[in-house]
Amino acid sequence: MQISVFPHGRRWVLWALLVVLVLSMLSTLVWLAGRYEVSQVQSRLERDAAEAVNDIRTALTRNAQSLQALQYADHSSVSWAQDAQALLREHREWLRLELRDPNLQVIKSSDTPFSAPVFNHFGRAIDQPEVVQACGVARRQSGPGYGASTYVPQHDGLGLEIMDVCLPVITEGQITGYTVASYALREMLVNMVATQLTRSQEVSFTEADGTRLAMHGGARRGSHVFIAKQLLDLPGHTMVLRMDSWRGAPNVFPNVLTALVTAMAIALVTVLIMLARDMRRRQRVELDLANALAFRKAMEDSLVTGLRARDSQGRITYVNPAFCEMVGFASKELVGCGIPAPYWPPEMVDEYGQRQAWRLAGNAPPREGVESVFMRKNGERFAVMIFEAPLINAVGEQTGWMGAVLDISEQRRVEELSRASQERLQATARLATVGEMASLLSHELNQPLAAISSYASGSINLLQEAARKDPQLAETLSLAIQRIAQQAQRAGKVIKSVHDFVRRRDQARETVKPRALLDDVMPLVILQARKLGVRVVVQCPADLPAVFCDRTMVEQVLLNLARNGMQAMADDTLHKVLTLGVRPAASSATSRWLEFTVADVGQGIAEGVSEKLFTPFFTTKAEGMGLGLSLCRTVVEQHGGFLSHKPNTPCGTVFSFTLPQS
Ligand code: ADP
Repeated sequence: MQISVFPHGRRWVLWALLVVLVLSMLSTLVWLAGRYEVSQVQSRLERDAAEAVNDIRTALTRNAQSLQALQYADHSSVSWAQDAQALLREHREWLRLELRDPNLQVIKSSDTPFSAPVFNHFGRAIDQPEVVQACGVARRQSGPGYGASTYVPQHDGLGLEIMDVCLPVITEGQITGYTVASYALREMLVNMVATQLTRSQEVSFTEADGTRLAMHGGARRGSHVFIAKQLLDLPGHTMVLRMDSWRGAPNVFPNVLTALVTAMAIALVTVLIMLARDMRRRQRVELDLANALAFRKAMEDSLVTGLRARDSQGRITYVNPAFCEMVGFASKELVGCGIPAPYWPPEMVDEYGQRQAWRLAGNAPPREGVESVFMRKNGERFAVMIFEAPLINAVGEQTGWMGAVLDISEQRRVEELSRASQERLQATARLATVGEMASLLSHELNQPLAAISSYASGSINLLQEAARKDPQLAETLSLAIQRIAQQAQRAGKVIKSVHDFVRRRDQARETVKPRALLDDVMPLVILQARKLGVRVVVQCPADLPAVFCDRTMVEQVLLNLARNGMQAMADDTLHKVLTLGVRPAASSATSRWLEFTVADVGQGIAEGVSEKLFTPFFTTKAEGMGLGLSLCRTVVEQHGGFLSHKPNTPCGTVFSFTLPQS
């Protein structure tokens, strides 16, 4: 599982970029807020300056009207002087009022009562250019004309900036004189500009080049100066009104807006830092989670136990690789499957469905697990052990069942093997007992057989005497008794070979013609054949080579096979024929083997019986021991031969075994 989207280094670059962006955005905001603040102060100052100019202009207009009123008054010297004095008292900005004739000669004059006469010290020239200029303008415009300001030194070493205004006196359309008023520029600022404008700001008149002529206003403070300039455009003269504000330049937090922006910025940065921390914590947790998941997955993948989770409807929600491998279905084929699951054997669906319904009804499965049978994708059935436990989610609710599935087919196979080997062991033990019994019997029977043999020999001797009286009868009895002696010896040999066989001694092998072997067993075979009504056929070419074998044991094999063959032919068989044959082994053209066959036309061997034929103690007969074929095979295999059987045509069975040529 891949959690991290960006590589570590790139993520840091992104973070750095974000921080730089936020910081630059914040500083831009603060700077803009500062700029806004400055522009606000500046525009307010501009507004104030314009207002001041307006005030001055209004006052000047009003003053011009007052001067006009003075002209229209009576021109007798007393009255003019009184009126002038009254006006001067009202208007502190006027220093002096003059009445001049058309040639600008001063007729009358009156000085302000508030200060010493200004022109006393240096006098007032009649052709003062500023007055001439002002009156020229006044004459041309038939209205107030203003002259350029002049510096008038005073006796105390200081001086005053004075501006004259000239108003023509017009009588019946003719200029009959001029009224000239001298304005003190500073007093103009003091009296004409509203006090609230000058309380915290300095207002001054300057010339176009910036030379300050007069000033008035609040004390200086702060370092940054805001300056606003406004033109005072008067007929005949233009001045500049300059307004200086010492309002401090907006600092880092100039006002509420900036403070607000800054606070928000700080909050933003804080949130950013918190987010970064949270993200780092989340990443750590995600990494831990991914590690835990990877660990868990590795654990689940390495398990040999199949895991299967089902929801409360019985749908499969999860399977681990071991489970998929077990049932042979891919994970995506299983997840989402409901009932019946694809690995349920079709013949078990009903039973499993009931079990499932019982489980879904809320009944807990047994702790010790349930044994069941599953089906692989290829249809093979196999035994499993299922341990189920409730699946509880994070909030403690049961969402389904988690099952651990163990494939116990191998275990079952091993159990079966061990059971079979146990059975074999038991059979071997019984065989050993039989061997011991046979050994005991052979020992016990040897004595009566020896006795029979010696009695037979004695009887023959006695018969030789009797022969003299009845030679015919004696000969017959002698033959019979010789036969008894032969069979007794034969029985002794059989017992000895069994004894040797059981003791595992080296068998006494000899070279013997196959015909001789058949001849030896023939009397006993014919004896039984007669009893069962069987015809015996012998097929043995005369030129067959001799075989090297334990004669007695091979004869026992032939006898056993012949007896089995005859017993296999039931009473209702029409032509009961038992064929004993010998021929060179078909598969050994070059090697030297002879094949002995015993063929019957009986009921044949059923398929189930065929598998167990050579198993010790297996028999289908009521009186059978089930040891005959097992012993036959052992004997043949001890000679290096091979005992087999196949169906005869048209019916019955052919048993055959091979023996090495001498
Ligand atoms: P027993 O003869 O004591 O039953 P055997 O080992 O000789 O023991 O034979 C085992 C079984 O093999 C017999 O019970 C019989 O069912 C079967 N069998 C042996 N030979 C033949 C045959 N020629 N035809 C049919 N069945 C045979």
